[in-house]
Amino acid sequence: MSYDVLIVGGGAAGLAAAARLAGQPVQVLLLERNPRVGKKILSTGNGRCNLSNEQMSADFYGEAAGFVRTLYETVPPENVLAFFHSLGLMTLSEEGRIYPRTMAAASVLDILRQAIDAPNITLLTDTKVSSLRQDRSGMWIAETQERTFHARNVLLAAGGFASPKSGSDGSGAALLRSLSLPLTPPSPALVQMKTRPALPALKGLRTRAALSLFVDGNCVRRETGELLFTDYGISGVCVFQLSGDAAVALSEHHSVSVRIHFLPELEPENVPEWLRSRLAQLDHGPLGTCFTGVFQRVLAEAILKASGLRPDQSMLTAAEQRRLCEHIAAFPLDITGTLGFDHAQVTRGGLKLSAVNPQTMEVRPGLYAAGEVLDCDGPCGGYNLHFAFASGIAAADAIAGSAPVLP
Ligand SMILES: Cc1cc2nc3c(=O)[nH]c(=O)nc-3n(C[C@H](O)[C@H](O)[C@H](O)COP(=O)(O)OP(=O)(O)OC[C@H]3O[C@@H](n4cnc5c(N)ncnc54)[C@H](O)[C@@H]3O)c2cc1C
Repeated sequence: MSYDVLIVGGGAAGLAAAARLAGQPVQVLLLERNPRVGKKILSTGNGRCNLSNEQMSADFYGEAAGFVRTLYETVPPENVLAFFHSLGLMTLSEEGRIYPRTMAAASVLDILRQAIDAPNITLLTDTKVSSLRQDRSGMWIAETQERTFHARNVLLAAGGFASPKSGSDGSGAALLRSLSLPLTPPSPALVQMKTRPALPALKGLRTRAALSLFVDGNCVRRETGELLFTDYGISGVCVFQLSGDAAVALSEHHSVSVRIHFLPELEPENVPEWLRSRLAQLDHGPLGTCFTGVFQRVLAEAILKASGLRPDQSMLTAAEQRRLCEHIAAFPLDITGTLGFDHAQVTRGGLKLSAVNPQTMEVRPGLYAAGEVLDCDGPCGGYNLHFAFASGIAAADAIAGSAPVLP
């Protein structure tokens, strides 16, 4: 049997596309390599699935903004939410982040699984597509180890490289490469960073901070949020947001560093004045007590040590005060790498967007791609799932509008 649509990958994008096509006059075959669909969805948002954001805008997608703008004009953000609501999912917003009202990722997956339980959708699990080609008549042929499938349209929604244990191990990119399509090399994003020095004494310490990312000495991005120290480096949402840029710069052999502002409620230029009045207020007592009530003790000790100062010191020269201010407002750490795809939430890189129609997700006649297989990634906050859903829906709508109905 040949199908109108073959969807490769039952993740966020593939499930959204299949759910959109459910009940429409097209025969859909959804192939998923895992024993069950949507494994990754279950681990998103710490098991709560942050599926979108009230502030959804193309501006959050870096170099992909132009592409995403057209996509989000075609499938506006409110339509993605309306789509989920129409399937029966109730949502709520927490500080702008949109979650299922159950606060359980399983609800999002269950609603999608329920939606694809339709007569025109055939789901085959434990089925990994290993090759994809088009015959002379324009029919697409997908092969697994044991079987061959034919379809007029293929939607490649096999994800990227991040979190390979969930099924997305880069096989989508391999299928695209076999079709000679242009790919940006993949690197991990939304991931922890390794630093030099690693400051293992601070392991487990969480603090609010502003991080500036420097590439070859130039500040390229700044993020404020919770910072977490680990035995190898730094983690936390603000680190995740910077990690994609850092990984790409490192892969291109640039020097990468961060400067940490540990008192982000103060502008850096106001830190010297703050320090002077703090020292005066404490009557120039030993430095070891100066930051009590400001920083956790181990952090204060690390700042003093990095500034070349001793906790029992009290009088500071102007140069020492300057050094101390620098380490409060711009603590320097070299970035030596990021953790790998096993730890990353998303992939930076993938199918070049110049090869994709942003209204339809069409790559070649009858070939569509959606979700993380594309060279598009957003920050934490629901932007990646939203992109996967919106692009899956756009592809489904384009296919439904163009696919001739089989007799
Ligand atoms: C721990 C974690 C937490 C996250 N939290 C959030 C969050 O809260 N909010 C947010 O917006 N984003 C989050 N993300 C990112 C988000 O989950 C992804 O961007 C999104 O799932 C991408 O959707 P996708 O459909 O493109 O790919 P995936 O969801 O990865 O789905 C791809 C599917 O294709 C299957 N597949 C792969 N190759 C083949 C093949 N050859 N044949 C058949 N099937 C194949 C895979 O098994 C998989 O099921 C998180 C990611 C991780 C890892």
